[in-house]
Amino acid sequence: MQNELDPALSACPNCRQERVQCYERDEVVELLETGAPIKAYCDQCGEEWDLSTEERAELSSQLTAGRPSRP
Ligand SMILES: [Zn+2]
Repeated sequence: MQNELDPALSACPNCRQERVQCYERDEVVELLETGAPIKAYCDQCGEEWDLSTEERAELSSQLTAGRPSRP
């Protein structure tokens, strides 16, 4: 089973460029469950920020989409 989620894009609040964020499935599951902020990072300006509610939902849908459950 793949533990790496598809790369997410989040815009850096400093330079306004979209930066690719890579997360591990286990990590995201835990952060979503505990309601802890999911950190994004821009390697150009060294800026760190929290993902928006929308971006969290996006990651969340990836988790459920990868689940092998059929009706
Ligand atoms: Zn930046």
